[in-house]
Amino acid sequence: VPLIALRQLVKRYNLGQPNEVEVLHGLDLRVAPGEFVALIGPSGSGKSTLLNILGLLERLTDGDYALQGQSVRDLQDQALTLLRRRALGFVFQFHHLLPAFSALENVTLPALMAEGRVSSAQRERARALLGAVGLAQAMDKRPGELSGGMQQRVAIARALVNNPPLVLADEPTGNLDTASTDAVFGLLRQIHEERGTAFIVVTHDPRLAQRCDRIVELVDGRIARDERVPPGAGQR
Ligand code: ADP
Ligand code: ADP
Repeated sequence: VPLIALRQLVKRYNLGQPNEVEVLHGLDLRVAPGEFVALIGPSGSGKSTLLNILGLLERLTDGDYALQGQSVRDLQDQALTLLRRRALGFVFQFHHLLPAFSALENVTLPALMAEGRVSSAQRERARALLGAVGLAQAMDKRPGELSGGMQQRVAIARALVNNPPLVLADEPTGNLDTASTDAVFGLLRQIHEERGTAFIVVTHDPRLAQRCDRIVELVDGRIARDERVPPGAGQR
């Protein structure tokens, strides 16, 4: 079963009659479990819109999207929310950490929101993840006490706390310097290799795209390119 199967996916925004703008024009795309995909393309080409649809944050207009074999077209909001919690993790450019909470509390947030409480097993898992991303010493610090790269690593740990098969990352290193970018991206690759997590990473950075296994390029709401990256191309 493909992890993601898009069939003639169309997205239109209704800006009030008669103004409708079609942003995605019938995309066909399949992604297998455990793939590491770069999503590239010029500004305005539809990357964020596609990521929001893949992430069940926005609804499609036409065509179909099946996630783990399940068509999401006709799911009610509540079912979408449950599927999102079970199957998806998110990493954004601006990591959306809550400033008043510690790193550990931020990582356990998805569990808190899903179940209203954090079990001791979940807290242990969050600790282990923070250790794995190199923040064992910083678990009790608040985001404001951490560097940008460290904050992004907290956000990555948070995205993984429910062990989702798919992580969607929108410019995850967009606001980081080169050294932090390499560290954060290396961490994503490491997670991918250790756990088989699939990633779809939106990036403007051709160097990072070359370090993915596959590059999908959107131009004007269409897939203009979809190709494997030759092994070793990005000197991982
Ligand atoms: P990027 O290239 O980094 O995705 P954009 O400037 O294209 O940034 O878009 C930034 C955000 O603004 C996106 O989340 C997009 O959904 C939203 N956006 C872009 N254009 C419009 C619009 N015409 N109306 C409403 N939201 C928009
Ligand atoms: P990208 O992420 O590649 O920059 P976006 O998905 O943000 O592209 O935007 C693609 C197109 O959709 C742009 O023309 C943008 O203006 C438009 N758009 C994005 N979000 C909205 C929205 N909420 N309402 C109307 N138009 C939008």
